[in-house]
Amino acid sequence: MFSVRKPINRSRQGFKPLSLRQGVLAFMVVVCLLAIGLTGQETWNNRAADVHASSQQTTNLAQSLSQQATDSFQTVDGVLGELVDRAETDGSQPRALRRLQKVMSEHVKQLRVLHNLFIVDADGNGLVNALPQLKNANYRDRPYFIFHRTHAGQTTHVGRTVRSRTDGSWIITITRRLNRADGSFAGLAMATISGDYFLHLYNQVDIGRSGIITLALADGTILMRKPFEQANIGKSIAKAPFFRTAPPQTAAGSYENRSVVDGISRFYAYHRVSRYPLLIVVGVAEDEVLAAWRWETLLNLVELVGMISIVAILGGYLVRQIKKRETAEAQLERLVLVDGLTGLGNRHQFEAVLGREWRRAVRAGTSLAFLMIDADEFKGYNDHYGHQAGDNVLKSIAGCIAGALGRPADLAARYGGEEFAVFLPDTSSPGAFAVGEAIRRAVAGLNIAHVRSPHGVVTVSIGVGRVSPNGSTTPSALVKAADSALYQAKSKGRNQTEPAATFIPTLAGVISDYVSAGP
Ligand code: GH3
Ligand code: MG
Ligand code: MG
Repeated sequence: MFSVRKPINRSRQGFKPLSLRQGVLAFMVVVCLLAIGLTGQETWNNRAADVHASSQQTTNLAQSLSQQATDSFQTVDGVLGELVDRAETDGSQPRALRRLQKVMSEHVKQLRVLHNLFIVDADGNGLVNALPQLKNANYRDRPYFIFHRTHAGQTTHVGRTVRSRTDGSWIITITRRLNRADGSFAGLAMATISGDYFLHLYNQVDIGRSGIITLALADGTILMRKPFEQANIGKSIAKAPFFRTAPPQTAAGSYENRSVVDGISRFYAYHRVSRYPLLIVVGVAEDEVLAAWRWETLLNLVELVGMISIVAILGGYLVRQIKKRETAEAQLERLVLVDGLTGLGNRHQFEAVLGREWRRAVRAGTSLAFLMIDADEFKGYNDHYGHQAGDNVLKSIAGCIAGALGRPADLAARYGGEEFAVFLPDTSSPGAFAVGEAIRRAVAGLNIAHVRSPHGVVTVSIGVGRVSPNGSTTPSALVKAADSALYQAKSKGRNQTEPAATFIPTLAGVISDYVSAGP
């Protein structure tokens, strides 16, 4: 069947340029990817900025609270120092102890952070404390007692948080060793610090609903924690990342982690308390820090989806319009090149194909065979059966022609009226003749009654021309040759296939004919 061949349009490098539709699609994809990339980058930057701001706040807060802890412990430690001096100088006579008791209760009255003060002898017996109502107990099994008994140094020892036996409140012990004149162990001076004092202070700091403030020993043991929960006192946060990653001398830092205490993800800042083995950790919940950012991200996402949708809708519309135009252009192209009645190529296409096939044959050094086909006694057919019936016969003949063409390169066109032309590129004379005969037999085989024809049925006559084009031959010579062969066929009685007598053979053509036809 005749087909409209699209010109092959490749660039020199072998790349096929994008069609307009592909270009629009590619542009849309690039715009969307760019929008996604930019939104992603902005979102990431915003998150980093929010995290940075929160980290600065928590770092500052941890530093202030660490300073406050230093001040409180230093004040109490100063009192302890004074007690150690007095106890070591005055001894443990009842009079001396009474004097000491007075001083001690004065300190406890004046310092809110101070819960109680004790002097304990070398056997662990409490000798005196600041609260007269509290009976002296024995402390020899307490870790801080054992510590001082076995460590000669004058360092201040900070113990874990325990419950006060006096009033059940949470207290932190800080102790110092007492020495006899010879340096041997004489007992200890102990201050108990009110855990509530720190908790009260921490409760006044706003760090969001799920924020935390922890006062811990340097080994990670929790002394006090906001929000207060009895079960957390004494727990260890030694599994927190900075215990593993930051060297012990690192004074401060910040990190992001899921809490080892309550499993909430937080941004933490920690600060070591100078002079004492203590640590302040401040944490704000990630959810709260990023709440505003999440909203913003959601809005950005909605905007992005909206933008992509608009691009997709507009792009889709554009692509559909382009497709419509391409379809219309293709239809127009068909209309321009195709014969409306038979569906074969029209005269315009015939001229174009003849020129093109001729040049191709010249370039490739191949031959071009050509059939001129004419319906026999067709005027008579029209006169007898009517023009409409004649049209139908022309369609049937076109069907026979198309059906006889086997190779993709073969082309059929309506030459004009009841005449058809067939190009058979690179086909031998016997081959072309055989195609002509196949068409002729097929038309006769249709058995369409034609009372005005001597054959009784519709028939065609065919002239076969063939040439191996070169510089000295022209396309019109080939058409002429086929046309006169057709004339011969007509004069020999019609319903015939007639080879042209005036082939313009070349040596190569003769040899190829011989080879194709066989001896
Ligand atoms: P011959 O065997 O010598 O070819 O005789 P003929 O009658 O076919 O030749 P002639 O050239 O005298 O007449 C051609 C006729 O073909 C004239 C016209 O009625 C008919 N014809 C041409 N084009 C069409 C068409 O499109 N439709 C129909 N139905 N008939 C057509
Ligand atoms: Mg004719
Ligand atoms: Mg005719």
